[in-house]
Amino acid sequence: MKQPDCIAKLINKFASLPGVGLKTAQRFAYRVIDMSQSEVDDFCEALADVKSKIHLCAECGNFTENEVCDICLKRDKSVICVVAYPKDVLALDKGGSFKGVYHVLHGTLSPLEGRGADDLNIKSLIKRLDGVKEVIMATNPDVEGEATAAYIARLIKPFGIKVTRLAQGISMGSDIEYADEITLERALEGRTEIN
Ligand SMILES: [Zn+2]
Repeated sequence: MKQPDCIAKLINKFASLPGVGLKTAQRFAYRVIDMSQSEVDDFCEALADVKSKIHLCAECGNFTENEVCDICLKRDKSVICVVAYPKDVLALDKGGSFKGVYHVLHGTLSPLEGRGADDLNIKSLIKRLDGVKEVIMATNPDVEGEATAAYIARLIKPFGIKVTRLAQGISMGSDIEYADEITLERALEGRTEIN
């Protein structure tokens, strides 16, 4: 049986999301049909709001509704933890023991995909190094993440600032995004200096 067009369209939209297969997309679509009108309106509003209200923090590049994000406003700016993506801030900050600020690169260096240093949020990192005691490189422990950490460490060293790397524990090739908070806390605590 052919689905009515607008149901098929909604299923396709859901199925285009990361990690959502066709079965799940169908369940989502049928759930929307069961929603009340106000539930659907709220849903649409939430989608439109993240698009219109969220932009990048002027200091760290993380997502925020304000000019500068809450973490940059309230926390210790002498320690900066550099991550590839906003979702990594979420993962690393869950444990709650890190009191410093973050810096989001929005990617890693990738010669294969043609992504160089100018494509990443690196210039604004160099601009905020005044008064910084330590920069922690918290990119993923894969080839691109390691290359990015080494590249930025070389850029920062001449400023006389200590540059460290998350301890092993997150296994090679795995994502910070999926590591549990205890593993991430340990990786932060056991960080070692990049020489
Ligand atoms: Zn910020």
